[in-house]
Amino acid sequence: MRKPKLRELGEAIKVLLVEGPYTSKFPKEMTVPPDEYRGKPKFDADVCIGCGACGEVCPARAIEMVDDLESGKRTLKLRYDICIFCGQCHQYCTTKDGIDYTTEYDLAAFDRSEMNVTVEKELAICEMCGGFAGTKDQLRWISKRLGSLAYSNPTLILSGMENLSQMEPIHSRSKDRKTYREDIFRILCPKCRRKVFLTEEWG
Ligand code: SF4
Ligand code: SF4
Repeated sequence: MRKPKLRELGEAIKVLLVEGPYTSKFPKEMTVPPDEYRGKPKFDADVCIGCGACGEVCPARAIEMVDDLESGKRTLKLRYDICIFCGQCHQYCTTKDGIDYTTEYDLAAFDRSEMNVTVEKELAICEMCGGFAGTKDQLRWISKRLGSLAYSNPTLILSGMENLSQMEPIHSRSKDRKTYREDIFRILCPKCRRKVFLTEEWG
């Protein structure tokens, strides 16, 4: 029994005088985490298209999505005070890197309402009903992915060449306005596009 105790004493003296403590000195000294560490999540506004898929897969419901049709903005807010850092949002992100983790881990705060990160995206408004037709970045992204197939959907074509669209938006006209064949070439939500096609086919 005496031998191990002497050995432990020797270890303790060695650590105290030569090697220093094994434990980290946080918060006096910040520890550098590995690159793979899941710290504070962060949206990349240039890569995120505002599709909302991350919010759909989040098990903690930490990602809220608010569409404001008046201002034409969609806001995604990630509350990292309730996030469980599971990695689902990054894994299933539509564009792969729209959301990722930083290595920032000292996230304590006094006010929980400040513990969030946001990204804002411009909405594409349906020219017929004034409703949601997608985010502009989302439509552009789909259009790019589809290539020539995007020409089957005028909303996608128009969203890619928005500045060339010279037509007057329908929702600025009378609400009782009839649907015409020309309305096919508008930015429309799926519901209104169906309506326009059905009117075109069957009157
Ligand atoms: S692109 Fe990724 S991060 Fe952005 S809303 Fe879609 S799933 Fe979320
Ligand atoms: S890491 Fe998990 S809990 Fe946190 S926001 Fe992403 S999906 Fe939600």
